[in-house]
Amino acid sequence: MKDIVFLEPIFKSAIWGGEKLKSIFGYDIPNDHTGECWAISAHKNGDCLIASGQYKGKTLSWLWDNHRELFGNIQGDVFPLLIKIIDAKADLSIQVHPDDEYANDNEGGALGKTECWYILDCDEDAKIVNGHNAKDKEELKQMIKDNRWQDLINVRPIKKGDFFQIDPGTVHAIKEGTLLLETQQSSDITYRLYDYDRLDNGKPRELHIDKSIDVITCPHVDVKTGGNIIKGDNYIIEEFIKSTYYTVKKISLDGEGDFLQDKPFLNVSVIEGQGEIDGISIKKGSHFILPFDYGDYHLKGTMDLIVSHI
Ligand code: ZN
Repeated sequence: MKDIVFLEPIFKSAIWGGEKLKSIFGYDIPNDHTGECWAISAHKNGDCLIASGQYKGKTLSWLWDNHRELFGNIQGDVFPLLIKIIDAKADLSIQVHPDDEYANDNEGGALGKTECWYILDCDEDAKIVNGHNAKDKEELKQMIKDNRWQDLINVRPIKKGDFFQIDPGTVHAIKEGTLLLETQQSSDITYRLYDYDRLDNGKPRELHIDKSIDVITCPHVDVKTGGNIIKGDNYIIEEFIKSTYYTVKKISLDGEGDFLQDKPFLNVSVIEGQGEIDGISIKKGSHFILPFDYGDYHLKGTMDLIVSHI
């Protein structure tokens, strides 16, 4: 049987970050404003180290470049997905991402960014920004020009367990009191539309209004999420999204179960509880990849896992 590829997370500080990656996930974080845990990533801005096995100490991008057979020999310059946990103690700026075509043409061949969010935990009155209220580009431009942010931005309440798909062109933002797991294309291209008129070191942060207007979809349309639900004796598998770039599911297990890894690779994050995979201990905060041709895997314990594949 092939080795499971366990990864060491990378932490990113942010002015809006908090300490829940320690208090809730038990990670050894660098400071009390840690915003992101890059859990499964081969991105150049945060390339995870392999934690154990014969490739211990190598990066995920190295593994992708040198052992593509572990990923089913699929094509591509970069490992295509990036899994993060985000702890927002304060509001993030309101932003939008380009699609592949716009990013390729305007950002030196970069990938666009499609992302999705699973709400791990949040304050009772937490909210999220998803979409806007302009009926067309003309109205969008006018509302931005007139600083009518309250009317423009679509804010909605959230609760633990909610799931959102954020297609390119969607105005979006994580707000204070939200802990979520993000599955995204491996890209860092973000256009900042509005930053609540905040100052950072005495100055407003740079906005990208023209590029934002270029890429914002008008009118906004909510992406329908949710799919198949499979019920086993001791588990439920719930599909959240099946999109062009990824499929994301949640496995809720209480006991034991057998599952099949028949994709080019499978990303797995334990988000609650603890247990074993094929006899190896895993717990909340563990992240790993089941390589190509891994086949059957056996899970045991009481835990929730988010899995994703292309
Ligand atoms: Zn985003």
